Amino acid sequence: MSNFVDAIMADVKAKNAAQPEFHQAVQEVVESLEPVIEKHPEYKEAKILERIIEPERVIMFRVPWVDDQGQVQVNRGFRVEFNSAIGPYKGGLRFNPSVNLGILKFLGFEQIFKNSLTTLPMGGGKGGSDFDPQGKSDQEVMRFCQSFMSELFRHIGPNTDVPAGDIGVGGREIGFMFGQYKKLRNAFEGILTGKGLGWGGSLIRPEATGYGCVYFVEEMLKTQGKSLDGLKVAVSGSGNVAQYATQKVNQLGGKVVTLSDSSGFIVDNDGIVGEKWDYIMNLKNIRRGRIKEYADKFGCEYHEGTGIWNTKVDVAIPCATQNELDGDSAKTLVDNGCFCVSEGANMPSTPDAVDVFLKNKILFGPGKAANAGGVAVSGLEMSQNSMRFSWSREEVDEKLHRIMKDIHTASIDAADKYGTPGNYVNGANIAGFLKIANSMMDQGIV
Ligand code: NDP
Repeated sequence: MSNFVDAIMADVKAKNAAQPEFHQAVQEVVESLEPVIEKHPEYKEAKILERIIEPERVIMFRVPWVDDQGQVQVNRGFRVEFNSAIGPYKGGLRFNPSVNLGILKFLGFEQIFKNSLTTLPMGGGKGGSDFDPQGKSDQEVMRFCQSFMSELFRHIGPNTDVPAGDIGVGGREIGFMFGQYKKLRNAFEGILTGKGLGWGGSLIRPEATGYGCVYFVEEMLKTQGKSLDGLKVAVSGSGNVAQYATQKVNQLGGKVVTLSDSSGFIVDNDGIVGEKWDYIMNLKNIRRGRIKEYADKFGCEYHEGTGIWNTKVDVAIPCATQNELDGDSAKTLVDNGCFCVSEGANMPSTPDAVDVFLKNKILFGPGKAANAGGVAVSGLEMSQNSMRFSWSREEVDEKLHRIMKDIHTASIDAADKYGTPGNYVNGANIAGFLKIANSMMDQGIV
């Protein structure tokens, strides 16, 4: 590590103790930006990086609610309003017992660069709670969401901060939160994205992250004259991103053979397609059951715990959670002939895994670029809300496809220009950073 990276990281670690995921996310970006800072001493002088690393505002609050047994429960709620240089704060809400400030800061920090890459006017933010929706009744989830919004509503607004979904926050939760906001403010406003189609949602928003991630795979493959047709693909997770990544791979002629949840994973060498994909949608979105039930029903392999990356595939699309793919898993994937990895989840590959991919010249699409399709269509949902108008499915899908192609080009071009051709990690970080840095320079020391 250079003195420059060392100095920034020492400061980040001292000021943000016990936030390892945040350190990890910052380190990757700072390392990528070294050649940019060398070329632009004005950024160093204006302490642009030091300012980006510090959130503009962090809100932390109590979320009390009553469970079905009449017992009072208390969770912790957060919103990290990270950077508003290019637009209102934008980023998802995560409900998961693992949520803490460090995890939300890593996610909010990454979101700044991702949103910039989409070319749409959105700043970076992230929020959520340590509430666990698993095993809760719809009524309990509703009471929790209402209590969460009873505090969050005073901090958000269509021109201030517009949250969306993430792990544990899907259409049901967005609905409950929107209803509560509307009641408290007496205003029907586009303060959340991922809304239902009848009340301001956008077509293709549920599909956008998964579809976009596969469009990014297509673009990476094209650089080597390849396509998804006939390729075997491992997808992890079985939530929103995994479901639509699987559907898009199937549509483009590939074959998805794995899915997982936090208990284990399935391997179905015949492909998770047709009625089997419909079964997953019902299992995970309606019945809210475990992935093992798929193996029981269709008679394929099921394994508890991790190990999904031991499956022999051409392409890997991790869509579950951070640090789910470590250095050893990356080596196994590469040894088994995998030549393309696209991150549907945020930071699913550990730094060791990323090293393995880059050293072996694997086509590696980092989450900031590869999963930006979700927030891009959230940006389009905001535009449609402002216009009080909606685009057709085809129109939104076409815009999403265009944006993913542009993100790919911007990343490749920046990687080339700054001396690391083919390195999408550096390319995405640099392309995302430049627009933020220039906007911050224009707006003075604020
Ligand atoms: P969902 O809640 O819909 O699905 C998450 C999936 O990951 C579930 O299958 C869940 O299993 C599994 N999972 C969660 N935690 C773990 C764990 N510790 N180990 C193994 N599996 C786990 O979330 P999304 O699909 O929306 O999000 C998935 C990832 O994609 C996240 O990293 C998110 O930040 C990222 N992302 C999401 C976007 C979106 O638009 N939704 C946009 C960009 C990125 P279980 O059912 O057992 O909990």
